[in-house]
Amino acid sequence: MGKRVSSDEMQNIFEILQKSYDVYGPKIYQGTGCFSDTDVVRYGLLNSWEEIVWNQKSDYSFKEVLLPISETILYFTENEMKTADGAARQRLIFLKSCDFHALKRLDDMYLKNGVEDYYYRRMRENTVFAVMGCKESGKNCFCVSMGTNRCEEYDMYIFQDENGCYMELKCRELEELLWDYGQNVQEKPIFVENNEVHVEVPEKLPNIIHQDSMWQEYGSRCIGCGRCNFVCPTCTCFTMQDIFYKDNPKAGERRRVWLPAR
Ligand code: SF4
Ligand code: SF4
Repeated sequence: MGKRVSSDEMQNIFEILQKSYDVYGPKIYQGTGCFSDTDVVRYGLLNSWEEIVWNQKSDYSFKEVLLPISETILYFTENEMKTADGAARQRLIFLKSCDFHALKRLDDMYLKNGVEDYYYRRMRENTVFAVMGCKESGKNCFCVSMGTNRCEEYDMYIFQDENGCYMELKCRELEELLWDYGQNVQEKPIFVENNEVHVEVPEKLPNIIHQDSMWQEYGSRCIGCGRCNFVCPTCTCFTMQDIFYKDNPKAGERRRVWLPAR
């Protein structure tokens, strides 16, 4: 069971959420596109409910909210080291079902691939996710072939149509915050069930597939610009940089920085 909420009420709900969370989602950055006078859609801190972009795919990944492109992880002097503080406030991120599946891949890499990543764990425990139901398939989307068109383990589900919004809450904290809003209804989450693009996924890929001539050729053309890391929500490649301060070269900070594919 979920709730029906009017569009006006949604702005009130958004303001309630803002009191407890920094709220992020896809929004338009005017005039910052690749070409002059073009816009870009990317994830950022939202100031109002209307700011969320529903009908367009984000040009950049939600990942940059979770894992900053450059993140200071510790400060050091000659003798001491101090772990950098985490984000001061909890975060709520609005994202699509396909992105929510990408999050599982990030979890696998950072939390289930040997020793847990302390910084990722800290950030993950401080973040809740609101899945935005897609009304229709986006251009070039192929989530149905990949089975990423629907999901269940979200903290909040939200679908916007001409009658307002349908909302489902699974996280106790969100339930307590928003309990008094909207009308209880017997609706179900809506997910895209068809894409124009279909992808045949092989039953089994050999382990040496990365040696295939297609990838060799692709790799030979790579100029290390890093764009693939920026757009791919599942990429976990990073490098470390030690920065020494100019006024005291024996002190500095260590940063984790996204790494271009090479
Ligand atoms: S239609 Fe599928 S791939 Fe496209 S944005 Fe929605 S969930 Fe993602
Ligand atoms: S870094 Fe990524 S996007 Fe840039 S050239 Fe290499 S493969 Fe292409």
